[in-house]
Amino acid sequence: MKPTNPVFTGLETTIFETMSRLAMAHQAVNLGQGFPDVDGPLDIRQEAAQALLDGPNQYPPMLGMPELRQAVAAANKRFYGLDIDWQSQVIVTSGATEALADCIMALVEPGDEVILVEPLYDCYLPLVKRAGATPVRIRVTPPSWQLDFDALADAFSDKTKAILINNPMNPAAKVFSKAELSAIARLCVEHDVFAICDEVYEHLVFDGKEHLPLMCLEGMEERCIRIGSAGKTFSLTGWKVGYITGSRNLIEPVAKAHQFVTFTTPPHLQKAVATGLAKEDSYYNDLAGDLQAKRDRMAVRLADLGFDVLPCDATYFLTCDISSMSIGANDVEVCTKMVEKAGVAVVPVSAFYGGDAPTNFIRFCFCKQDHVIDEAMDRLARWIAS
Ligand code: PMP
Ligand code: GLN
Repeated sequence: MKPTNPVFTGLETTIFETMSRLAMAHQAVNLGQGFPDVDGPLDIRQEAAQALLDGPNQYPPMLGMPELRQAVAAANKRFYGLDIDWQSQVIVTSGATEALADCIMALVEPGDEVILVEPLYDCYLPLVKRAGATPVRIRVTPPSWQLDFDALADAFSDKTKAILINNPMNPAAKVFSKAELSAIARLCVEHDVFAICDEVYEHLVFDGKEHLPLMCLEGMEERCIRIGSAGKTFSLTGWKVGYITGSRNLIEPVAKAHQFVTFTTPPHLQKAVATGLAKEDSYYNDLAGDLQAKRDRMAVRLADLGFDVLPCDATYFLTCDISSMSIGANDVEVCTKMVEKAGVAVVPVSAFYGGDAPTNFIRFCFCKQDHVIDEAMDRLARWIAS
């Protein structure tokens, strides 16, 4: 038989699915895959349920329901001061994952180079490769995860078509600084490069820090695409509702990709997310505040157990350096032992690299109920003591 596509053939199942399957098999507390264990606001879920009963349950407009596109444009104005025309500058997608695929398909051609920053979210590399482009990987290094400006500048070439930035960044839990964003913006303008900004964690930022979209920087509005996710903003990861904001000239080709990937996203979910985006400031403050408290609850216990807990400014995740602990030879071995012996599933950070990965970091997901965090930490304590 003829070979199937080599980019996907033989590719491993994603680490998130793998760890969730192992967690189930070992009845482990699942601190691997990033999802909250309590569902998002009841009123949003009720609105979706009612809309499903009332209908219509037919194809909504290809770009998304007008009320959600209007809500996305309004949120861009409210949170970042961006003036977005809802009719020509917003697309609703089935999750940020679909949005990323649409953007890469629409903007990138064979022969192009696309700059990626490691540690990177796992769908980036295969999507860029499937588009026929060459990924150019740079990295931010722990514990500070600072961007190396020289490495960044060296990554840009005549062939660079796009840079893909995840800000706030999973699993580094980093919020890019104004200086870092300015450096990226300057190079994008200088080399005529698009920026695809995966900003799914935009509202999960702690300690009074602020998320600044790259799109807000000078010269970036016309060359940036910004991706958000209702999964993260409303703790409804299974809904898979995402949204893309961009200039008209970029949204046009991205919409053409979207129309042949999913075409639309379930209308009742879109309607409810539109209501969610208009929620009062206290909703957004409480979301970040609650997560921050969970981060602290887990970080204290992990530090007590001897883990070297890295700073965490955002997202659902705490990363720990395990090199000073004698619990396994590398991150993969430690994660395997932890799920099997301790009954706690976490994720090896080496999964977030395209090659030559550090092997001394593991990622804990802290968006869990307090008693679940406590149970996981108790299990780890017993395992480490044995
Ligand atoms: N980007 C990053 C950085 C993520 O962590 C995730 C995981 N949720 C996604 C994209 C995918 O988001 P969605 O579930 O909306 O497809
Ligand atoms: N974004 C989530 C994480 O980093 C996982 C999403 C998925 O499983 N595709 O854990």
